[in-house]
Amino acid sequence: MIERYKKQELFLGRDNQAKLHDAHVLVVGAGALGSSSAEMLARAGVGNLTIVDRDYVEWSNLQRQQLYTESDASETLPKAVAAKMRLSQINSEITIEAIVSDVNSQNIEELVAGKSVIVDATDNFETRLIVNDAAVKFGIPFVFGACVGSYGLSFTVQPGVTPCLHCLMDNLPTQGMTCDTVGVISPIVSVVASFQVTRVFQLLTGCEVPPVLNSFDIWRGESSKINIEKLKQSSCPTCGEAATFPYLSFENSTKTDVLCGRDAVQLRPGGAKVPSLELLAQAVVGISDEVIANTYLLSFKYEGHRIVLFRDGRAIIHGTNDPVRARSIYNRIIS
Ligand SMILES: [Zn+2]
Repeated sequence: MIERYKKQELFLGRDNQAKLHDAHVLVVGAGALGSSSAEMLARAGVGNLTIVDRDYVEWSNLQRQQLYTESDASETLPKAVAAKMRLSQINSEITIEAIVSDVNSQNIEELVAGKSVIVDATDNFETRLIVNDAAVKFGIPFVFGACVGSYGLSFTVQPGVTPCLHCLMDNLPTQGMTCDTVGVISPIVSVVASFQVTRVFQLLTGCEVPPVLNSFDIWRGESSKINIEKLKQSSCPTCGEAATFPYLSFENSTKTDVLCGRDAVQLRPGGAKVPSLELLAQAVVGISDEVIANTYLLSFKYEGHRIVLFRDGRAIIHGTNDPVRARSIYNRIIS
């Protein structure tokens, strides 16, 4: 028994501790949920961790993204890099790979290759649906997690056993809300990440994972669970009989065009549903300035960027020529 895992090994057993050591977990996103999950996985001795994130550390992250420090924010370090540095201090005996990248239909298959389990720690449904498609296609369990305000939810996609995220989309209440529009408190992050990491332990050690969607409102002290077994849809394009994995195709992914000479990037969403301009107008009114809404568009200023959303789902993000940065800002507003 290795001293550092002694207490965990008493609970899981020596053979199961060895299974954690041999595993390779992909954490998609290194924000609040990703920080919290990755720290627990590293401390638990999961032998190989890959963390992928496109953003950098900002001061507004420090309230809940537990791996990061003031100096990370001052240096504008990429989150994946800062996360790897901190995790290596926590556990130098595991292998940690940091990838600074957007996750999209072009790179997801390479990212999931050889992984034992995928932890969802993204902030938007477009990326989640891409990951869900790849997880089901390659038969890798995918542990969904999301939180906004004081509310959070989690369930596990077990390919071939449970419904997938695509099947359950209409049952998920957090769509259209993001941490940047309604805020979030850190305790709900810990709750959701704890459920996710527990599921990872169960999956890696071959234990049964309950087919339930757990949800919590930590402010109200409420929790509930729904059995998801019967929610699998035979016509689902991801896990149904004639699966086409639509989010792995370039046609259905969000396209970005740098608008030359305008210091702006245009985004054109692919297959994912975009909330109505009216709903978005309600969401942005409290968090942005200079809001202009008319029949055709919604324009507002957010963190120094002028953002224009059109009724057909297009968006123009002014003040950047970087498509990844533009996509990140877009997903903070539109989940
Ligand atoms: Zn499905």
